[in-house]
Amino acid sequence: MAKNKAICIRCGEWKIYHMDKCNECSFEPETEIDIAKSRILDFPWDFQSPSSDEIIETGRSIQELDKISVQIKKGIPFEFSEKEIEGIREVYVALKDTPKLRILWDVFLWILPVLVMLLFVLYILN
Ligand SMILES: [Zn+2]
Repeated sequence: MAKNKAICIRCGEWKIYHMDKCNECSFEPETEIDIAKSRILDFPWDFQSPSSDEIIETGRSIQELDKISVQIKKGIPFEFSEKEIEGIREVYVALKDTPKLRILWDVFLWILPVLVMLLFVLYILN
């Protein structure tokens, strides 16, 4: 079973993936801002800002999310950082505009060294 590692930005309920529809309040992130906020309340993730090339850290650890979840359930809204939201929104827009094939190619280039390495190790072991 997949583990819950994101929380609903509306009601604080746990869900598996930040884009999931919430089982509790049926909230589903659709706008770029809501998607960015939902990504913030998901597992930790570092990314590079497409505009400033700055590394932005986002996401929260399970322990942090646990606290935030309790807080939201009590009715205290989570204070989002505008900068964090804006950074994620930029990445999201950049990704959305990138053709799928291009993403696959990037992923391929990324795993290629690992594959080569693996083949090399297998070759040596034989
Ligand atoms: Zn919810």
